Amino acid sequence: STLFDSVELAPRDPILGLNEQYNADTRPGKVNLGVGVYYDDQGRIPLLSAVRKAETARIEAAAARGYLPIEGIAGYNAGAQALLLGKDSALAAAGRVLTTQALGGTGALKIGADFLRQLLPASKVLISNPSWENHRALFERAGFEVGTYGYYDAATRGLDFDAMLADLKAAPAKTVVVLHACCHNPTGVDPTMDQWKQIASVVKDNNLVPFLDIAYQGFGDGLTEDAAVVRMFADLDLTMFISSSFSKSFSLYGERVGALTVVAGSKDEATRVLSQLKRVIRTNYSNPPTHGGTVVSTVLNSPELFAMWEEELAGMRDRIRLMRKQLVEKIQEHGGKQDFSFVLRQRGMFSYSGLTSAQVDRLREEHGVYAVSSGRICVAALNSGNIDKVAAGIAAVL
Ligand code: PLP
Repeated sequence: STLFDSVELAPRDPILGLNEQYNADTRPGKVNLGVGVYYDDQGRIPLLSAVRKAETARIEAAAARGYLPIEGIAGYNAGAQALLLGKDSALAAAGRVLTTQALGGTGALKIGADFLRQLLPASKVLISNPSWENHRALFERAGFEVGTYGYYDAATRGLDFDAMLADLKAAPAKTVVVLHACCHNPTGVDPTMDQWKQIASVVKDNNLVPFLDIAYQGFGDGLTEDAAVVRMFADLDLTMFISSSFSKSFSLYGERVGALTVVAGSKDEATRVLSQLKRVIRTNYSNPPTHGGTVVSTVLNSPELFAMWEEELAGMRDRIRLMRKQLVEKIQEHGGKQDFSFVLRQRGMFSYSGLTSAQVDRLREEHGVYAVSSGRICVAALNSGNIDKVAAGIAAVL
């Protein structure tokens, strides 16, 4: 027998599998809505002007590439923290907030998960039903048992708020609750601010551990608006974990730019927690890479580049909104017999279209339009060149 005799073939990532199928499809005009990436109206992943400027300046400076500190670039961390809590956060001023650069939002979740597993070995993790594919796998891999709280209501294509609240109320103290702070992936359905306040009060009363995941800040209503949930939790003086990602908002997917922020109970706690997070980082990848972090930090700390970035982000947000509006209108124009207006209420890059997996199969086979079998479509992959085809296809399979 050989060393790897007993190694099983791991299941294929369903979304990457879909991409492979899409790439092998030779039909012209095929459309991939299975992705989790923002494309511009020409179907390209944009390179933002603010990023290009920061990048050019960095290359011209020809800076040495020494190791970064374990927790990353100070200006990056301060910038990421200010986006979440605001520039004038009293908690930050009190030294109760710490931020470390991370390898994307995924890396931030993983650092947090590893630390939490050590801190709370008896706790379970709850994620939304459904949630981003990797939430369950990541927390399980860190050693946690992962359960779900009610979230999506297929009947209303909205939030099952009663189920969500009931499940959180039933969770034992110290349960880690992963919450999407805006632009829920995969459904596009977010609680209202009033519902969020009730969620926060259950979290507080039951002594749950909130882990806010924010991978789409700026894609809902704006940078500040999309941080409202984070700031409301902070105002309630809740200790919490926040994983944030710049992959989408800076269109820097492959640079792995994210951050983990922790709000602790005191300055002293924050210092001790950071020291432990640094241990987790040190024993995994030692310290983060320089390039993406420097670019993001440059933009976040330059008023001119920041304003440019914010405008470009607003452009992406507005284009997604336009695509949502046109999709609803065009499905109707093409004779779709179902009301699709719920798409307008959803936020961010995704929409749970309500299509069944059989309808998704027909959409792919008969129309060359690829969606996830759950019915999730990436509205950020729609554009003026493909939206008619997609709307016609959806109308036909309804
Ligand atoms: N969290 C959620 C909810 C996401 O949708 C994603 C990306 O798709 C991430 C985290 C991870 O982002 P990153 O690509 O920065 O690791």
